[in-house]
Amino acid sequence: MELAYTAGPVDGALLDVTVGGALRSAAQRWGDAEALVSRHQDIRLSWLALSEAADAVAKGLLALGIERGDRIGIWAPTCAEWTILQFASARVGAILVNVNPAYRPNELVFALNHAGVRVLVTARRFKTSDYHAMIAESRGDLPQVERVIALGTEKTVGTDDLLWSDLVALARDVADEQLAEREAVLDTHDPINIQFTSGTTGNPKGATLTHHNVVNNGAAIASVLGYSTADRVCIPVPLYHCFGMGIGNLGCVTTGATMVYPGESFEAVATLRTIVEEGITSIYGVPTMFIAMLECPEFTGLDTSTLRTGVMAGAPCPVEVMKRVVNEMHAAEVTIAYGMTETSPVSTVTRRTDGLDTRCSTVGTALPNVEIKIVDADTGDTVAVGDKGELCSRGYLVMRGYWNDPAATAAAIDADGWMHTGDLAVMADDGYCNIVGRAKDMLIRGGENIYPREVEEVLFEHPAVAGVQVFGVPDAKMGEEVAAWVSLREGQAVTDDELRAFCRDRLAHFKVPRYWKFVDEFPMTVTGKVQKFKMRDIAVDELGLHDAANIVTA
Ligand code: AMP
Repeated sequence: MELAYTAGPVDGALLDVTVGGALRSAAQRWGDAEALVSRHQDIRLSWLALSEAADAVAKGLLALGIERGDRIGIWAPTCAEWTILQFASARVGAILVNVNPAYRPNELVFALNHAGVRVLVTARRFKTSDYHAMIAESRGDLPQVERVIALGTEKTVGTDDLLWSDLVALARDVADEQLAEREAVLDTHDPINIQFTSGTTGNPKGATLTHHNVVNNGAAIASVLGYSTADRVCIPVPLYHCFGMGIGNLGCVTTGATMVYPGESFEAVATLRTIVEEGITSIYGVPTMFIAMLECPEFTGLDTSTLRTGVMAGAPCPVEVMKRVVNEMHAAEVTIAYGMTETSPVSTVTRRTDGLDTRCSTVGTALPNVEIKIVDADTGDTVAVGDKGELCSRGYLVMRGYWNDPAATAAAIDADGWMHTGDLAVMADDGYCNIVGRAKDMLIRGGENIYPREVEEVLFEHPAVAGVQVFGVPDAKMGEEVAAWVSLREGQAVTDDELRAFCRDRLAHFKVPRYWKFVDEFPMTVTGKVQKFKMRDIAVDELGLHDAANIVTA
């Protein structure tokens, strides 16, 4: 019996540079070439200019007394400052804490307190979120936050708060040598980033990544995609996620490709125009973004033939959508990647040279220096090729652990260093994989992960709610939508709109259930375990979602 195990080729060239060092060598190698374009801000920076901007902010952070290992939060949609701070914080050895732009105050407070953030950099607002107002409201619950640094021209109200321009001005008092001394003591295996992921116990966990993790994963993807200084990469995926800051920003920094941001968050028309007007060669997106672009009325009139490659990832990728990206968007070498934040993020990817079928209908095979196996979740034994089991991944890409949570870390990474992903997969005899389900209670709506337990815990706080079960139902555009079944306490009445509003105050908008059903009881096994798959099947019937349920994915 052939076992479901494969190892990417051992490539001796793992990089041993820090995130800040990678930018320094980019500035040396490609100097005046275009490094970063932020279209909505009308900002264009060369590698030299980006590196100098990162130096100024790094020195500002030193002036504020930021030590190696201190945590700096960033709460902003995509912007040039996000990336400048990514490199600046890494240069002083601080740990950048990515805060989801859609967070509500209670989510923000949990993230900042859990990571022990000393300094928070914040945008003024994003969509309907007034960040300054939410920070003012939460300030009393954030004892560790010493300062808030505001992007733009309007300060937050704390006594020691600053503007971004003040931070840059502080750099004047810091000598180049001081920054060089700090950079010299850094270790590429230091943690430099915390990203909040799974919330199976209600609260998110902080996946903690090192320079080594993210620089090498970015470089590996860039190599698979064949990046050079001739490439221009459109990054509509958010920077707070590894897809943006990792394989986006760091894929470019290691190869001299240009990072191009089409807007502060994804918008189909802006992304399409960016492809055309910027001569984009590589396009990133979760499946929902590609679907939105292909369905966009403007799409048919646009010539996107500069596209050569790209990455679809982050959620099950529909085979037919991949084919349309090849045929209609002309991204002939587009690939599918599979990964998770905890693995920096990519474990497997299809290769540009794979046949169209393989490239559209599998998630590829292990990256160089990465091992993949599929195991029986109960016994831990590797299953046979062709059999279903939990995908595990091992190598340089596995995170340090969950921040301040040794128990959760031990549950995710076993003694042999394998990251247990909670994703169910099948490996073929050539090492290529298909994702066929999830062992974890999670759903993905438009690329955003949602942990039902987190939503259920919020709904349990409502006085009328006796019981609640949250689960995903298929959706042709979003991949999945959130459904909630609720049972009420004796004598209580509440409407779905009231519950929706209750959630909206406490949860990022994407976690708020779309479909509601009031029930007296939930489908259970004889041993009293709730059967979410049965609720999903019933919901598919009742809501008429069979077409979406039948979509074939890689
Ligand atoms: P995140 O940590 O936000 O990157 O989410 C990781 C999760 O997204 C994985 O554990 C998978 O469940 C899912 N995922 C990522 N890429 C793919 C893919 N290509 N196909 C199916 N699911 C994916």
